[in-house]
Amino acid sequence: MSDKLTKAVTKNGFIRIYAVNSKGIAENARKFHSTMPTGTAALGRLLTGAVLMGAMLKDENTSLTLQMHGDGPLGRVMAVANSEGDVKGYVENPLAELPLNHLGKLDVGGAIGRNGYLSVVKDMNMKEPYIGQVPIQTGEIGDDLAFYFAQSEQVASLIALGVLVDRDYSVKQAGGFIVQIMPDCDEFNLKKFEKAAEGLSSVTAMLEEGLSNEELIRRVMHNFEVEILEEKEVGYHCDCCDERMQRAIVSLGKKEIQDIIDEQGEAEIVCQFCNKGYKYDKKALEDMLERAKR
Ligand SMILES: [Zn+2]
Repeated sequence: MSDKLTKAVTKNGFIRIYAVNSKGIAENARKFHSTMPTGTAALGRLLTGAVLMGAMLKDENTSLTLQMHGDGPLGRVMAVANSEGDVKGYVENPLAELPLNHLGKLDVGGAIGRNGYLSVVKDMNMKEPYIGQVPIQTGEIGDDLAFYFAQSEQVASLIALGVLVDRDYSVKQAGGFIVQIMPDCDEFNLKKFEKAAEGLSSVTAMLEEGLSNEELIRRVMHNFEVEILEEKEVGYHCDCCDERMQRAIVSLGKKEIQDIIDEQGEAEIVCQFCNKGYKYDKKALEDMLERAKR
């Protein structure tokens, strides 16, 4: 399943809007992590936000990590996206589940928990990573990311992320959009956008109507002339590999590795993003111990 992300800007250049249909991403995440519906929605929303923000990274080979760490039953929820459109993530307690909230919706805010923080780390390829952190506002993720943009990057944003879970627990719809007001936007256009945003239906409702990204963008920005800049494929992709896992073991240090050799004689690591298992026998661990000594 391949998903698409679309970038657009108003013809006057004052407002940009990125939209993504992330059904494949959210469904892959659900399958990898066997999440219950609330976890499916929370992880799906965070992955959707991450892939949208990843598309804003300017340089190649850069990545972005979003982490929601609240006091709710899901524990930590994490998503990593790069500038090429790959995204992966996990949730600490995938089976955690709460009753529907007062609106009859999956209680993502309650499951993440409102006491805690959202952190954003941008890995800028050699340069020092950028780290931003804000307190969780609602735990519904879209609002929290918008708060982050306002606080840390001084960019006014409207962020809508939605995941609709089907009766059989599979992902029926997933997607979202980010609208950002550029700093040079004048009061007139800002007011005009606020008026457009007032009557909007939810992103899952728009996806249920079968809108394409471009149609969704034109719906959200209906009182503006919009120019579509780019459409690209995005997807859930884990880049774990044997060498990366070995590096992780080597980074534990020689004492830890010696302890594993003495106590277990072998090691099995499971990738937290895709559940792929990596097994290392005593000989392999001894080689890694040698690397750790160097
Ligand atoms: Zn993996």
